[in-house]
Amino acid sequence: MTNTLTRPAKPNPFAVAQQQFNLAADYLHLDDGTRALLGDCARELTVRFPVRMDDGAVHAFTGYRVQHSLLRGPAKGGIRFHPGVTLDEVKALAMWMTWKCAVVGIPFGGAKGGVICDPRGMSQNEIEHITRRYTSEISILIGPQKDIPAPDVNTNPQVMAWLMDTFSMRAGYSVPPVVTGKPLSIGGSEGRSEATGRGVMIVTLEVLRHLGIDPAETTVVVQGYGNVGANAARSLAAQGCTIVGVSDQYGGVHNPDGIDLAALDVHMGESHTIVGFAGAYPVDNEELLTLPCTVLVPAALENQITELNAPDVKARVVAEGANGPTTPAADRVLHDRGVFVIPDILANAGGVTVSYFEWVQGLQSFLWKESEVNARLGEIMVRSFGEVLHVSEGRGVDMRVAAYILAVDKVVRALEVRGIYP
Ligand code: NAD
Repeated sequence: MTNTLTRPAKPNPFAVAQQQFNLAADYLHLDDGTRALLGDCARELTVRFPVRMDDGAVHAFTGYRVQHSLLRGPAKGGIRFHPGVTLDEVKALAMWMTWKCAVVGIPFGGAKGGVICDPRGMSQNEIEHITRRYTSEISILIGPQKDIPAPDVNTNPQVMAWLMDTFSMRAGYSVPPVVTGKPLSIGGSEGRSEATGRGVMIVTLEVLRHLGIDPAETTVVVQGYGNVGANAARSLAAQGCTIVGVSDQYGGVHNPDGIDLAALDVHMGESHTIVGFAGAYPVDNEELLTLPCTVLVPAALENQITELNAPDVKARVVAEGANGPTTPAADRVLHDRGVFVIPDILANAGGVTVSYFEWVQGLQSFLWKESEVNARLGEIMVRSFGEVLHVSEGRGVDMRVAAYILAVDKVVRALEVRGIYP
């Protein structure tokens, strides 16, 4: 047991993102100017705004919208509502979006947004007012050709609908492609809600095939049973894998014989948490990460797998559904122990891929069938996995470094061909 007093502080996510970038920059021999440009964010907006809460009191909220790079196209990235949001977290998430879009070859740059708030204790009315005022504040940056938000932690299709409506009211006409992850009724895409988890499943199956592991023999633990985690669990279960552990922010459950996800969904519908599910044994969140399993899917927040718990991770494969769940120190431990890590910028890229499909459908006012969306998603994820694996094997580097080399190189090439303005 580690004494909490000796526990190292969790790393700053932006410092982690810069460290990961610098490693790729070394491999690519980037010059100092390019390194300084891409190693930081292009635009950072901080907004402070009032919202009248249900009890009549006025609260001041702080939010951010950051664009890391617009070199490969309009900026793209989700919006997070969480008490732990910081400018550096948003900057890291924006930078990761740039590399993610580049890895899968989607013509977007990277952005991210966040509001420091705890939506758990709020009414829908309060969340709507935060969303509308925040949208209004960041409207100087966002737009269908400029910067296109999407859901992230604690935001969902309803929040995206309020964002789209607020932007449209200011424009004077409906602007569906200003945001992705919208409800289907206002131009959302079939398959978008499931896309990130589905993408995690697709690349995980590719890794299992690469390692010669049968999905029917594969056990899976998922940390964070939200949009990404629940959809990853459901789609991996549909491929024959056995889900043996899941958690949310309140705690986790474990059943080595397999968790009945349909029964878990009924329980979640009633109690809004995994805790108390009768079909499995309770475990705490620390324990969950070190349960015996073939595949561990961290799908909650940054800095979950650290140098402290990495030596105890028993999974053969870590599929990063979340952004930044593994610290660089933990990365080295996992690498040395032969754990196959599918890096976030590849593993969870299914979400932005189908967001891109949604944006294209919005611009063309032409909707695709779900089968078409899923087929194109599958093609992109499988191709991207193959390309990253090729670099990894060719250069003798791990999958994260390989993904970064591919991504940073694509962005640098965009910079070179566009030239320096003026
Ligand atoms: P979400 O709000 O739908 O779900 C987050 C889940 O994590 C919830 O179940 C929450 O209870 C749980 N959680 C929070 N803290 C936890 C903790 N300490 N331990 C265990 N569980 C915890 O959010 P989401 O959209 O599923 O996003 C999850 C992660 O995936 C984030 O890192 C996000 O940036 C990333 N991501 C999301 C998308 C997307 O399309 N939504 C795309 C790519 C990456």
